[in-house]
Parts: sequence; structure tokens; C-alpha cells
Amino acid sequence: MLLGETMDKLLEKVQYLKGVGPQRSRLLARIGIHSVFDLLWHFPRAYIDRSSLQPAHQLVPGEQAGIMGTIVATRSSRSRRGMAILAAAVETQQGTVQAVWFNQPFLEDIIKAGRRIWLSGKVKSILPVEIHVSEYEILEEEDWAPGIVPVYSTTEGISQKVWRSLMNQVLEKYLPDYPEILDPDQRQRFELCTIQEALTNIHFPADRTSYKLARQRLAFEELLLFLLRLQELTQKDSRPGVIHLEKRDLVQKVRDQLPYQLTPAQEKVIREIFADMESPQAMNRLLQGDVGAGKTVVAALAMAKAVASGYQAALMAPTEILAVQHGQALHDVLWEAGIRLALLTGSTTAAQRAEILDQTRRGDIDILVGTHALIQEDVTFANLGLVVIDEQHRFGVRQRAALAAKGDNPDTLVMTATPIPRTLALTAYGNLDISVIDQLPPGRKPVKTKYLPYKLRNKAYNFARQQVIAGHQVYVVCPLVEESEKQDIQAAVNLYDELRTSIFREYEAGLLHGRLRQADKDQVMQRFKKGEIKLLVTTTVVEVGVDVANATVMIVEHAERFGLSQLHQLRGRVGRSALQSYCILLAEPHTDEARRRLRAMEVSNDGFYLAQQDLLIRGPGDFLGVRQHGLDQLKIANLAKDLILAEKARQCSREIDPAPWYNYITARFPVIEGTAMN
Ligand code: ADP
Ligand code: MG
Repeated sequence: MLLGETMDKLLEKVQYLKGVGPQRSRLLARIGIHSVFDLLWHFPRAYIDRSSLQPAHQLVPGEQAGIMGTIVATRSSRSRRGMAILAAAVETQQGTVQAVWFNQPFLEDIIKAGRRIWLSGKVKSILPVEIHVSEYEILEEEDWAPGIVPVYSTTEGISQKVWRSLMNQVLEKYLPDYPEILDPDQRQRFELCTIQEALTNIHFPADRTSYKLARQRLAFEELLLFLLRLQELTQKDSRPGVIHLEKRDLVQKVRDQLPYQLTPAQEKVIREIFADMESPQAMNRLLQGDVGAGKTVVAALAMAKAVASGYQAALMAPTEILAVQHGQALHDVLWEAGIRLALLTGSTTAAQRAEILDQTRRGDIDILVGTHALIQEDVTFANLGLVVIDEQHRFGVRQRAALAAKGDNPDTLVMTATPIPRTLALTAYGNLDISVIDQLPPGRKPVKTKYLPYKLRNKAYNFARQQVIAGHQVYVVCPLVEESEKQDIQAAVNLYDELRTSIFREYEAGLLHGRLRQADKDQVMQRFKKGEIKLLVTTTVVEVGVDVANATVMIVEHAERFGLSQLHQLRGRVGRSALQSYCILLAEPHTDEARRRLRAMEVSNDGFYLAQQDLLIRGPGDFLGVRQHGLDQLKIANLAKDLILAEKARQCSREIDPAPWYNYITARFPVIEGTAMN
């Protein structure tokens, strides 16, 4: 059968399967299953494996275990903090086990005496046996069958029995025609089973080995399709790119202006970027460097090179505060060389905007700096040769592409302070070349970091006050939880009022948050930069990029709510000069994870190390910001753990011409990006 016909068949609506009908198909649609293809890619969330059940006396505390038995009694209670706890005594052939669930009040209607259950979780103790449940399934008679039985995540109205019969049906009817994208040689080289074997064994594994092989192949398949889809979006243009050949000596002029010497690491990445810019192939480069490594000046020199070569450059930043700051920093180093620069953001007035757009269109502006405002449709350039994107993880693939589309295949440089493993970067962002600034400017002292519990809060603020007396400045960050921006801003306002009327009474304090008018934000930032404001109370709007060298203390309230990379970014606001700086994390950690994060912050100032830890703790979806990357669409591959597989998939993706597979690729990844931020 031809691929087209095969795909037509696989994309048939589930409604026409035996036993589905309109009502069930509506239920299935709710969990994103519309076609036979979607159904095949709905993999079990767990497996009941009778052969893996251990006798109760062989269980080991701290390890995972699975048991199966009959619930004989249940008891619900609440912890001191009010968390719901449900305990059930489960009688098994291996002895009685106490099973415990936390924080799931609705379970009382499901976990009932007399029902049969399979469950797995962490063994907490063995005398008596207690398991903290992570997966469970109420069993029907047929589930007692020997072998490995799949358990599907489901929706009300579709029982496990129905799932299994559906899967049996589609495997029998559709599997023989399922397309195989790998040839035998590729399967052999990448050590993978056939797609038919994989789909059969992921749903109904004969044993553990065949399950593992199936998972391996399908995770590979998923990464491969993801990469092929991404390739299409980030395809290097086959048209020739811009050749940047300097006609004026602006770069040297700018260099001469710098109040410091570039580090060898900066010089190295500048060489890499310049070589790309001079070549006729369009540059597509990711510049990684820890917070404070000095990426901005690298971007400034690249932009100076573009201007010297007769082109315009654009720099896009994720927040208005950062865009304004970049505008100023660039102005400082570029204006004497005669480079004309303008700033365009959401709060540029209509009149100013019209004028800036006009000048940009005519080529009277050399460098346009701004926020998302740059990608609006009516922004046009005379001759855009270089696009720079700062803190690129805040933007989606499409937003990057939208800015690049304003030039004729311009060079692109994207910058990030969240260093991630190379393979992950390549998988998440498509085909990029990577440069790393692996060295901080000289004289920086590592920021001393300490976690303090709330009862020592006064100590933290007294310390901050001492630093102010010594002539330095302080940030205090209140967390911003997106769900309730209003409340968080209120918290910041309260804290601001508290501090400026008590411990910081004699000093000027400022307040900064996302709901302020831009003019007010600018004013607060300006006064903080000039040193008029000593204490800046702020939400996470200062997270990225803000650069005030005289600030030496960063206090983070509720530090337990932040991820590691975010804490590291926040800490990066201090320690930007030769002054000793301090970061105090006020926290009440309730989980092991939160304690681990705080500990990691205390022991390390190394963004690469912390990013790795963060990736392991959170997984790549959260880590990279899932909404930006569509990585949350991965059902089976796990980029924190499957990096070797991802590397193989990348290699393989280069061997495959995606054109004939287009329908197959888009069946799995119709869109690759979620909604954009901001
Ligand atoms: P990031 O890489 O986090 O974006 P920035 O570009 O904001 O870092 O640079 C941080 C600070 O370091 C800035 O104040 C900048 O002027 C300064 N800086 C950059 N390069 C050097 C250098 N080679 N020597 C000394 N200071 C530098
Ligand atoms: Mg920066």
C-alpha cells in the first residue's frame, strides 16, 4: 500500500471502530484521541505485572514495589497541615499491606473495602509493610489473568476493559499497514526493533525485555518525528545568506570604547560569530553563557559588524525592562561610533512609533532594539542583515522566525543564560551551531549564598541594611505565581510598605512589578541604577538581564517556590562587579526537592552545573518552558534521560528525506509550539 493510503486509513476517525459510536468518541476526543493513529499512540501509563509481585517479606524499604490483592478496610484522616490521607489494608497472597495515598480526597469513592486492587509505589516500612502509592488500578475479574496487563490513563466512562479491547482491535486491523520509516539497515545501526513489534509490545508486552525494546523504538520514533517537524520549521534557507564584509572600521571603534578587555572566552565566540557572518550561509547560532558572562557586548560587536557592512540589525528581548536596558547599554558603546539606534516596545507612543517605523523602513536607523513589538507586521526594514534574540528560551521558534523574516535570510544569533546539554539544545531548538562563553570576566567573586528559614528573616534584612550603610544596594524579590498575579503584586506592595516604614526607614526604597505603567517602571529602574534607590522590592520582572553593578544583596522571599535555573538567574543580578555579593534565600521548604534546590544554590555558583541539576529535577518540559517548545507533547521520550537516543534520532533525521513522510510526521506533531509567552 502507498504511504498516502496507509495514512488515510490510520487517520480514520475512532468513531467507526467497533464498540465506539458517537458517545465514546466524544469521550475519547476529550483526551485528545480522534483517529486510529491517536489511539495507537495512547500508550499505557502502567502495567500490571503479576510476575513482578514480590512476597511481602522480601520488600525493601525505599524501593519500588507492586502488589495485588483485596481491600479489606480503609481509613481516612488529615495531617496537621490539613492534607487528606487515605490508608487501606490490602490482603494479598504475600501478606497484608498497608497502602497510603496523600492529598487525593476524591479517592474515598474508589478505594473501597471488597474491591480488588493492583498498586505500586515506594515501600516506606516493612514491619508492618507500608507502601506510599504512586499507581493503582481497581481490578476486574479478567485482570487477574497471568502475564503483563496494560493500564491506560483514561476518562470517565471508558473502563480498562474497553481500552484493551479497543487496542486489540486496532492492532489487529491497522498494524499490518502501519508505515515503517526506518529501513532494515537503519534499524540495525540504531539497534531498534520494527515499528510493528514496538506497537504490539508497548500495548501488550510479552515480557520485560520486549517492553523495553518497544519503548526504545517508540521513544526514538517520537524524537525522530519531532526533529523532522522542527527541521521543517527551522530549515536553513537554501537561498544565499547575507555576507557581512566591513566597509567601515566600526568594530574597532566600538572595541576601543569598552572600559574593559574582553575575556579570551568572549574573543573566541566573537571569532566564531564573525566567521559565520562573513560566510554566505545564513548564521543560525546559539550563544550560551552563564549569567554575567558578558553576552551583551558580544552582541553589540556583532551588530556593529553588520552596520559596518551596510546592513541593519535588530535585537529582541523578552521584557520591556530588559529591552530598555539593552537600548541604553548599546547606546553607551555604539553612539560614539556614529551608529544610529532606536528602541521600540509596547509603550512607545503612537507618534514615536510611526517615526521609528518610518526611519527603519528608510534605513535611517541602524539598530532597532525592542520587545515583541519588533515582530508586528508593519515593522519593516530597509536591509536587515542580523537578528539577535536575548534570553531566547522566552521566545518560540515562530517568533524567532517572524523577526528573521523581516530580512532577506539574515544571520541569526540567539543568546541564553540557561546552559543546557548540547543534544537537548539541538533537539529542542532545531539545527543550531553552538558557542559557549565558558569564563566570567576577571575579578568576580562568587556570590555567597545562604538559605535562611523565615524565623531568621530579620537577620537577613538587618544584614541588607548594613550593606546599604556601606553604600551598596539591595534587591528583594517576591515570587510571582502566574495564576494570581494580583495577589502576588499585593504581596510585593505589602512587603514594600513594611520595609520602607521599618528597617529601611531612612533609605529610599522602590517598587517594581509587571502592572506598573512603563514610564513608572523606567523611572524606578533609572533611579535604582543611579543609586538613588537603595532597596528595590520587585516581582520576578528583574529575573533576566538586569545589570546594576553596585547591588550586592539579593534577598529572595519564598525561595522554595522557584526552580533552580530561576534562582540562579535571580542571584545573577548581584555579583556583577568586584564587590563581594550575597544572596539570601528565605524559604520554608516542605519537600525534599525544594531542600535539594536550596542546597544546590548554597554549594554552587556554576550555571552549567545548576542547569543540569534543574533538568534532572524538573524534566525538560518545565525546564525549557513547555509552552515554547512543544516538548510537552512528547508522550514517551524523556529528554532528561533519553539524550543518547535523542542523539541517534538526530543522526537518523539527517538521513531521511521528510517530504514523502509529511502526513505521518504531522499526524504525530500537527503543531510543535504552544501559545507564546507574554
Ligand atoms: P550576561 O551574559 O548575563 O548578559 P552582561 O552582558 O549583562 O551579562 O554583562 C554583565 C556585566 O559584565 C556588564 O556590566 C558588562 O559591562 C560586564 N562585562 C562584560 N564583559 C566584561 C569583561 N570582559 N570584563 C569586565 N566586565 C565585563
Ligand atoms: Mg544578558
